[in-house]
Amino acid sequence: MAILTKAPRGTQDVLPAQSYKWREMERMFMETAQLFGFREIRFPVFEHTELFNRSVGDTTDVVQKEMYTFEDKGGRSLTLRPEGTAGALRAVLENGLLNEILPLKVSYLANCFRYEKPQAGRLREFHQFGVEMLGAADPASDAQMIALARTLLDNLQLRRQVQLEINSIGCPECRAHYQQALHKYLSAHSDGLCDTCKQRLEKNPMRIFDCKNLECATIAGNAPTILEYLCKDCDDHFEELQKHLKATKINFCVNPKIVRGLDYYTRTVFEFVSSDIGAQGTVCGGGRYDGLVELLGGPPTPAIGFAMGLERLLMILEKRKRKSVFQAPKPCNLYIGSTGKLTQRRSEQLCMALRAVGLQVESDTMGRSVKAQMKYANKLGAQFSCILGEEEIAKKLIEVRRMEDGKIFEVPLTDLAISRFLYCTHNWEDGRQDRGGDED
Ligand code: ATP
Ligand code: MG
Repeated sequence: MAILTKAPRGTQDVLPAQSYKWREMERMFMETAQLFGFREIRFPVFEHTELFNRSVGDTTDVVQKEMYTFEDKGGRSLTLRPEGTAGALRAVLENGLLNEILPLKVSYLANCFRYEKPQAGRLREFHQFGVEMLGAADPASDAQMIALARTLLDNLQLRRQVQLEINSIGCPECRAHYQQALHKYLSAHSDGLCDTCKQRLEKNPMRIFDCKNLECATIAGNAPTILEYLCKDCDDHFEELQKHLKATKINFCVNPKIVRGLDYYTRTVFEFVSSDIGAQGTVCGGGRYDGLVELLGGPPTPAIGFAMGLERLLMILEKRKRKSVFQAPKPCNLYIGSTGKLTQRRSEQLCMALRAVGLQVESDTMGRSVKAQMKYANKLGAQFSCILGEEEIAKKLIEVRRMEDGKIFEVPLTDLAISRFLYCTHNWEDGRQDRGGDED
């Protein structure tokens, strides 16, 4: 049955040839976030559906069309997380983390699920790296978040490929004035809008800026912009943010068309965009969401966060001609072949001792002939190989072959001698080399 060997639409396997890139990117993101004071939080893949309805907002595409919602056997309505903020905030509130020192800074890696039309850079299961900072209202916190995102992208050597765009969507008060003006403008052009946008017009006209339909985009292009409607406080906040960014030499452009996909944003919104990967160019989206914590039943708490799409970042990195920023996994240091059952057991013993001091070693697990074992060692790309036979055991000496040039080295047959040989030949900076193993 084909269904048994075909992954669900919109999902992607990460195979061994690629997985090291994921692992390195994830490690780098978490470690860099830690330099900015963020600590990891983990939370469930599914939550009560109501959490997302409330926090993501029921006029959004995510809630209206994209959620994986199901009833469990206990009759609860649950939803696979379409994004990370809601679950992270729920966990923060449930565990009283806002009673600790503020601002609270958390980071996470989350696989997310959205029922979308799969295409390049748009999957049904995708991965986000996200951060949230709770308790800080000052523009300095917006600037620090953006600086973190910029640093992560710079570390991937994407300084030039990925540009920062910022906007302010004001607070509920000034936004209300703007929405009125926008409604008036869009009503005059409603004939040209797609059906979804016609509905959006009444519920949340700013959603039209998110529409991917070309005609809607043209109409949106000539619409009044939010920046003309910001109240003094929101305007000051936005100005102040720009001063901070300039002070830390972070380039940006103001794009009044950024409203972000989710309902909960206030004031600062931002995106990091690449033109290298076509329509799905937004690799990071974030913003301030000062009303959300309260909406979820917590104390009034200003907050800001962002999320990066890991698949899209890897797509950009793959397209690049430059040398990969990720180090390929280390090859096998030594393949220890054997001539029979007894010597195989002895070579596996040796392997165990060498692995204990951090060396990557393999022995035969398929009962292959010596010739076939050597072929295998070659395919593995092993740096060194040797064959352990009765004679080597009797003489307590083994010949180790350097695979790149065939040079032979004679080494005493002890794990200590072999590990020293391997570490010294390659001058590996690994403090463990002298710990050695048991000499026999
Ligand atoms: P888009 O406008 O491209 O649909 P979005 O506004 O829905 O993006 P967010 O909810 O802000 O996206 O999610 C943050 C980031 O997660 C995006 O910038 C993107 O990099 C990534 N992302 C979102 N949806 C997907 C998806 N379906 N597949 C892959 N990555 C995604
Ligand atoms: Mg989307």
